[in-house]
Amino acid sequence: MKKDSLYHAIHINVEKCIACSHCVKVCPTEALHIWDGHSNLDPERCIDCDECYRVCPVGAIQVEDDGLSQIENFTTKVALIPSVFMGQFPIHVKAREVFKAIQTLGFTYVYEVEEGSQLVEELFKEKIDSNEKSPYISSFCPAVLRLIQVNFPQFTDNIINLKTPVDITATSVRKQLELKNKENIGVFYFTPCSAKITSLKAPIGEEESELDGVINMDSVFNKIQAILNNQIFIHKKNKKEISNNAIQPDHILWSLTGGEIKNLQGTCLSIDGIKNIISFLDRIETRGCHEIDFLEMKGCDQGCAGGILTPQNRFITAQRLRNRAKYYSDFYSENPDKSPIHHTDGISFDEVKTNEIKPRSIVKFDSDPMKALLKMQKTQEISRKLPSLDCVACGYPTCKSLTRNIIEGNAELEYCFIYQRKAEEKGDLTPEKSKEVLEHIWGERKFKQ
Ligand code: SF4
Ligand code: SF4
Repeated sequence: MKKDSLYHAIHINVEKCIACSHCVKVCPTEALHIWDGHSNLDPERCIDCDECYRVCPVGAIQVEDDGLSQIENFTTKVALIPSVFMGQFPIHVKAREVFKAIQTLGFTYVYEVEEGSQLVEELFKEKIDSNEKSPYISSFCPAVLRLIQVNFPQFTDNIINLKTPVDITATSVRKQLELKNKENIGVFYFTPCSAKITSLKAPIGEEESELDGVINMDSVFNKIQAILNNQIFIHKKNKKEISNNAIQPDHILWSLTGGEIKNLQGTCLSIDGIKNIISFLDRIETRGCHEIDFLEMKGCDQGCAGGILTPQNRFITAQRLRNRAKYYSDFYSENPDKSPIHHTDGISFDEVKTNEIKPRSIVKFDSDPMKALLKMQKTQEISRKLPSLDCVACGYPTCKSLTRNIIEGNAELEYCFIYQRKAEEKGDLTPEKSKEVLEHIWGERKFKQ
């Protein structure tokens, strides 16, 4: 699928939005502001962390869903399911039953995403051993990569330029099926968050994604649950069309917090939650951290189990996955001849590395040094006129954000109500004009109320 670098899977339904500003206050990159009586998204700054979605009280932030019908464009339909999807079901529900239910929805093949983790883990170990950089940063979570691109550009060099397990498994599966002369292959991923939908349409470090589509986990879960409840499987004659279990027990936990560093040597840290990640990166930005070899960072609490599209509680999901990993670990110890098969063994490092990940080009100051100096002076001048209250009354999350938008030509000093009062006192602004400005920001509806 071709790239659209400003694409985001979340959208604001302006009809539903009540301009409460909750989303504006939690957005870690100041990508949201209120204008025209509703929230507005700056696609350059959004990192797809889904924090805004979690706090919206009226469901006005919505996630795009391409739905199941997209698979009909392909003859060979492959479902790639992450472990957290299995974690949506109690341990007594067998993986094989879930796979059969997925086939009943129309998929020809079902593979587990974490097959690709084996190769990623080996390459992480090689990087850590090379000791060329510290700390290395995992490329797993797309929201974290975008956060680094937008807020911490100096750390882009520390990211290991590697495809994620889902892309590696997609490459491997496609190769296997092409060898079997399968035609018109479509590979679809069941996603737990919006960041992975964005990764398909605007991949980081790649021109094109290995996937043909994503399917939102919450919507497909309900369909699978209904099939399982009613036992209405459509049995395929050729049972081999369901993939063998090909993941190591430890890799079942890969997408949870701590899953990537489980088998790594050296000083490796695992941090989850976008706020924790920001405060950690802020800390190492100022104090450095040469003692740390590797950083696993996942934007959601409990890793992918906490994604907004996972229907079950994240703690229960994580525990189910730990139980599942334990079950397979015991099973393989007792049955070594049934150990997992690695379909990704024949894939080389060149096939899985991505291009260098570069900072996102949010131009702060002009590339011309003279113009940049003037802009810097203007920024200081505007900052002095604003009250540093960060009250959001101007529609922007902070006075700093309003300043930046004034410089970029998107906002005016008059948006600040403290500035308005001072300007009114001096006779530079009429009360009618002040009201008009506030109505533009918060919408006429709020004033009529
Ligand atoms: S997804 Fe995250 S970065 Fe994007 S607007 Fe919402 S809170 Fe901000
Ligand atoms: S949280 Fe944001 S999108 Fe939701 S109603 Fe409030 S302002 Fe609108």
